[in-house]
Amino acid sequence: MAIGQLPKSFDPRKFARQGRQFEGSLALNQFGRLVNSLVDDKGEVQVVLNFSLSENNRVVLEGHIEGKLNMICQRCLDVAAIPVRADLSLMGVLTDEQARALPEEYEPLLFGDEPVELVPLLEEELILAVPLVAYHALEDCSAQQFYTTETDDEARAAAIEAEKEREEENPFSVLAKLKTDTTIQES
Ligand SMILES: [Zn+2]
Repeated sequence: MAIGQLPKSFDPRKFARQGRQFEGSLALNQFGRLVNSLVDDKGEVQVVLNFSLSENNRVVLEGHIEGKLNMICQRCLDVAAIPVRADLSLMGVLTDEQARALPEEYEPLLFGDEPVELVPLLEEELILAVPLVAYHALEDCSAQQFYTTETDDEARAAAIEAEKEREEENPFSVLAKLKTDTTIQES
């Protein structure tokens, strides 16, 4: 069967029986909860969905969703387009009990008589795939050069400081000082 346009909602059982495949892109601004943790809602994500039936006639939905999300790089505090990908491996369940009994490689796709809405389903997966702390790739980060230099300078300054402290705390210089004090008291 030909690859179709992404459905807004779907009947998992029907699509699985038909072995339907979908590919397309969705604007990020449809993912309201996700874009709350992003710099903006510009851009889109690519989606691939493959429905099938398992050996024991369960609904299986596999595929992925991926895109570049604008987040703040915590090294240079500039905007970074962070590649994010969530792989989907879902199996249809009707109850929580079925969900708990799923094979390890599957996450539950809970559904009933109502069609399943695509965007909320994908949004859940994307949110889990977004990194808590974002960074540019090293070669793209404007802070990288500065960061290295600063660290080197700081390390050098710390070493000089430590050396000075060692000199001051030198037991012999302390003894020498005590001796001098004693001498002064005795005289
Ligand atoms: Zn950066």
